Amino acid sequence: MLNLILFGPPGSGKGTQAARLVEQYNLEHISTGDLLREQKSKGTPLGLEAKKYMDAGQLVPDEVVIGMISNKLDERLAHVKGFIFDGFPRTVAQAAALDQLLTKKGTAISIMLALQVSDAELVKRLLLRGQTSGRADDTSEETIRTRIQVYNDQTAVVAEHYSDRACQVKGEGDIPDITAALSAEIDPLTEDNTEEE
Ligand code: AMP
Repeated sequence: MLNLILFGPPGSGKGTQAARLVEQYNLEHISTGDLLREQKSKGTPLGLEAKKYMDAGQLVPDEVVIGMISNKLDERLAHVKGFIFDGFPRTVAQAAALDQLLTKKGTAISIMLALQVSDAELVKRLLLRGQTSGRADDTSEETIRTRIQVYNDQTAVVAEHYSDRACQVKGEGDIPDITAALSAEIDPLTEDNTEEE
């Protein structure tokens, strides 16, 4: 399998790039933010619990997110060539849990692709997205700054967990150019996969 983590702060383009890579490599996109927003809009108990953290720009508790991912892997793993994880793992505990879940299924993370974008650009992009996304957490500059802070405090360290498989990619510039830079890192891994098959 080819399992990618698209990593980076909020607004770094993970969702945009994941949508393009999913097409290119025929992988399954798992975005914990999307899954949580779906629960929230359905008004499920999980969604209602998650809402208070999401609206404040804080992380939803690890056990909630890990449980959700575990269900998703059980449901989808047998049917796909691999996954693109977007917005997950966001803590070291989530990374350890993901590794364990994948190991149990006889697979692992192939590569972590970390998008690099300046804080000023992140704030600009998120405020712009807030004008059309309808996302409460994109409309307030204060919440946006909290989310960037939470990323720096709790999430950035996850890159160290995958330091043997992580690579940095410039996340500013034209969208297709960024996709090409990501593909340049992914392609050698798909060649390996083909040889093994
Ligand atoms: P995102 O769409 O990835 O920006 O996520 C939006 C919000 O959902 C975040 O600010 C968190 O409140 C929550 N969330 C998404 N993914 C996670 C995760 N892996 N761990 C904890 N909270 C998450």
